[in-house]
Amino acid sequence: MLDRSVKGAIVTPEGTLVNGWIGIQDGRIVAIGQGEVPQAHRTEDYGECLILPGAVDGQTHATDYGGLPGIAPATASAIAGGITTLVDMPYDNPDPLDREERFDLKVDAIAALAHADMALYGTVTGETRIDHVEGLARKGVVAFKISSFENSPSRFPRIAEDLTLDLFEALAQTDLPLGLHNEDQEIVLARMGRVRDAGVDGIVAHSASRPLAAELAATAQFFAIAQAAGGHAHPVHQTAKESFDITRMFARTGMRATGETCVHYLWFDAARDGEKYGAMMKVNPPVRPDAVDGLWQSLEEGDVAFVSSDHSSWPIDNKFTPSIFDAGAGIPGLETLVPAFYTLARRRGHDAAKMTADMLSSRPAKFFGIDDRKGAIEVGREADLTVLEEGAFVWDAKKAHDGLKWTPFDGETFDVRVRATYLRGELGWDGENVVNPEGSGRVVKRATKGWYA
Ligand SMILES: [Zn+2]
Repeated sequence: MLDRSVKGAIVTPEGTLVNGWIGIQDGRIVAIGQGEVPQAHRTEDYGECLILPGAVDGQTHATDYGGLPGIAPATASAIAGGITTLVDMPYDNPDPLDREERFDLKVDAIAALAHADMALYGTVTGETRIDHVEGLARKGVVAFKISSFENSPSRFPRIAEDLTLDLFEALAQTDLPLGLHNEDQEIVLARMGRVRDAGVDGIVAHSASRPLAAELAATAQFFAIAQAAGGHAHPVHQTAKESFDITRMFARTGMRATGETCVHYLWFDAARDGEKYGAMMKVNPPVRPDAVDGLWQSLEEGDVAFVSSDHSSWPIDNKFTPSIFDAGAGIPGLETLVPAFYTLARRRGHDAAKMTADMLSSRPAKFFGIDDRKGAIEVGREADLTVLEEGAFVWDAKKAHDGLKWTPFDGETFDVRVRATYLRGELGWDGENVVNPEGSGRVVKRATKGWYA
């Protein structure tokens, strides 16, 4: 007899099975069907609700602010948001994940605290150079990430072109992507100085201080180094079609070039929403004016590798600074990623369930080499499931589980809500409460070969 069966409209890679079911044994999917359900110890019937593969959020900053203890609230929020795997950035407070012993400490923290599974980015710093790249790859990081802009000298430093080249050479023979925070240091510093001198402030000044030119320059430079050295180059937040046009240009040379965008770049428009949200909408690179349609065009033409939340764990106090330039960059987003992306896809006339499963699960799972276990409802994979109920749901940030309880998505209406989430066959979110204990999550290591395309 099966451990469990879950009924609903099952979104598989081959299509949606209305009145379908998933059979689960030992945390894995062992059977999928339609109609009569085989005997199971527990059967949950979600009627007409859609059942998608658990989302793999390819970019989170669970530990940037609160350090490793930040794993508990971030993963609680993830599981409530239908995200079963977070791919966490390496910029842990106070020490970035640039050496093997910090990988081990983070794995221990996940085993103790996490409500969802986590895969880990590694990084390099001026101190470690490329000395620990091989060791971290052996430990099981799913990718590396660096920044071309100095966010913090020790935790989130600027990595200049010489070390970037060394790093691409070190990674050239591997499947590990190198992610980039893609903004040009000199352009941003000069433009920021210019708007500050002019006495301009507010979200519009923030946008002007980090122009598209800074993003495009960093993006193209990064691809050019990878083109010469080998390696998989992946700017992690491309905010406009122009960025994806550059990505496609390099990809057409046969090199491994990909780009990612985040759901807030698809939802918000600086021209329309900037005044309303102010610093609450401050992210780097910034949300730009009139960029949404172009980004959708890139996505529809296949130029976007996948969509992520870029969840940042800043308390709201971090936004209430006298100047926009002192406010923290980044927004919480684990509970809004799936509903917001689904809603956008639906409103743009797409098969929203299929597109959500693709952009938020299958593609990131493949990208990070975890698609033997994650990313699709298929026999043999782990039973990570997200149950979506359709309707009209106004998002209330006060109900979030991230310990932050603010977001620019507060008050927005979504076309779905997360009715339940299963992690490896166990219920983690029942639609009202996070019901799995801390320590239910584990680390997910890269396992599959080959690259994303
Ligand atoms: Zn980020």
